[in-house]
This record gives sequence, C-alpha cells and structure tokens, in this order.
Amino acid sequence: MTVPMSYVAIHSCGRIVAATVDMKEHAKAVARDVARWVRLGDKVQRMSVEKARRSDWCECWRNKKARA
Ligand SMILES: [Zn+2]
Repeated sequence: MTVPMSYVAIHSCGRIVAATVDMKEHAKAVARDVARWVRLGDKVQRMSVEKARRSDWCECWRNKKARA
C-alpha cells in the first residue's frame, strides 16, 4: 500500500499555506504549483497527505482580511 504524498508550501510564518497532492497523472499541474510557490518565496516540502492535513495551516491571510 502506498501512502499518498503531497507537496506543501510553507509560509514565512512556518505554517502550511498551500498544498497539492502529488499524482503522476497531474505531474504538470503539480510542477506548476511548486514553481509558483518557489517564486512567491515559500519553502516547499514533500510530506504525506495525511501529515499535511494534520499540520498547522497559515492564517495570515485570514487575519489580514479580518483587520481590513
Ligand atoms: Zn502565514
């Protein structure tokens, strides 16, 4: 049994800001997402989908929105 893997973008706050499931069928879309995160300055990590789901997610944008 293989564990589904994903790529996650780590925001400057240290939390996950975006994630994409690593699927061979969508390799191009995955590569595009990862390239975009790198351009935005996020750190990219590979981890299991399960771990990504359980991790802390970035709330910076939500806080900004609430203050606006
Ligand atoms: Zn953040």
